[in-house]
Amino acid sequence: MSARRTITVVGGGVVGLTTAYALIQAGHTVTLVEREDQVGSQASFGNGGQLSYRYVRPLADAGVPLDAVSWLFQHHSPISLKLRLDWHQWRWLMAFLGACNAQTNQKNTAKILEIALRSQSVLQHWRQEGLGDFLWRKPGKLVVYRDARKFAKAARAVINPQQEQVLTPADCARVEPAFGSLTPVLAGGIFSPEDEVADCNLFCQALLAALEASPDFCRVHGAAQLEETTTERCRVRVNGIVQDTDLVVLAAGLASRSLLQPLGLDLPLYGLKGYSLTMDAPAATLPSVSVTDYDNRVVYARLGDRLRIAAMVDIGALDARINPERIEALRRLAVETLPALSASSPPTPWAGMRPATPTGVPIVGRTRWRNMLLNVGHGALGFTLSGGSALTIRDIVEGMAP
Ligand SMILES: Cc1cc2nc3c(=O)[nH]c(=O)nc-3n(C[C@H](O)[C@H](O)[C@H](O)COP(=O)(O)OP(=O)(O)OC[C@H]3O[C@@H](n4cnc5c(N)ncnc54)[C@H](O)[C@@H]3O)c2cc1C
Repeated sequence: MSARRTITVVGGGVVGLTTAYALIQAGHTVTLVEREDQVGSQASFGNGGQLSYRYVRPLADAGVPLDAVSWLFQHHSPISLKLRLDWHQWRWLMAFLGACNAQTNQKNTAKILEIALRSQSVLQHWRQEGLGDFLWRKPGKLVVYRDARKFAKAARAVINPQQEQVLTPADCARVEPAFGSLTPVLAGGIFSPEDEVADCNLFCQALLAALEASPDFCRVHGAAQLEETTTERCRVRVNGIVQDTDLVVLAAGLASRSLLQPLGLDLPLYGLKGYSLTMDAPAATLPSVSVTDYDNRVVYARLGDRLRIAAMVDIGALDARINPERIEALRRLAVETLPALSASSPPTPWAGMRPATPTGVPIVGRTRWRNMLLNVGHGALGFTLSGGSALTIRDIVEGMAP
């Protein structure tokens, strides 16, 4: 271990909490600053619950701009775009379009896969050490395709046929009978048996409980501000008080962009709004395997005795307020796909802003300030990638090459 450091982590979402946990375990002293009353209450609250270690292809891919044009003309499409007079949006969209080609997608998939696989092994380690219950299961993940061309493309992209099994529609129904009624409209599916599901908010609470048991951990409630003290150093002020700290790790999700702007660093982060429903479905109708309906971009995960359904990418939404029309569209789509859900009691709706980079690759590493590290921009995969990127931060702090 390197010298013991005092480290301030800004942001108590899944990324900040895993970072704090990895640093505490490495023997450092950590202060976690969170502006909300509860940790895990923003993008990490009601997400899809998928620990999707194998299926990590970023949204930016060849063919997506063309699909997007057709989505623009659908009333309730999986992706909606509202153009705004906003430089951040245009810059993000331009960079996103630049990443929409097969070569860049492949390169970025490889980078994300590396973080994801590291996440998988560290999560196993943390669970074995006794992290509290967060409804973790390893049922595998089935991605079903209705469009034959998209299925063929996904099948060609499989790297490890043991870890990503290419299935016929009949095989899909065998792997997850709850989706059996889709068989006639399916082109096929890809099953990743090693993928997991869990409740991200409960994971955050379990991490906090484990952190609070450590004498080297302290939690501060307040909104952090960042200030540059010299060209090489910056500091954190919370509730008017400057934190006495060797290092700062910024893990404030989407807010990281506005926190750094006064210091002249403009991160390429943009909020992609998404929605989820949580339902008390009859036990016999709950799928066991986690399922992604690729063409509709909807994910289904059983969390304990409830079903979490998450979907939609709204580009240009200003905040995480729930749009009842989008929620109703998602509910209808879910009932069309799993008709047994029509008997369920009304679902609990939720909306959140994914802190997204245009390429889908998170920004994890050093800055021009020698005492500040970034762990931001995990987009649609923050739960999945949080453990791996926390280890990258720990390695940098420990002086190892990330
Ligand atoms: C609909 C939907 C479905 C999703 N499904 C999945 C999924 O199935 N699997 C998956 O891996 N990922 C999924 N994601 C993505 C995942 O939820 C996010 O990537 C992840 O939660 C981001 O975590 P974070 O810690 O970076 O951000 P957040 O959870 O937003 O945490 C940032 C924290 O920083 C705090 N903060 C901000 N500013 C300050 C400040 N100035 N001072 C102090 N604190 C501050 C905020 O209050 C917040 O608590 C989904 C997202 C959405 C919206």
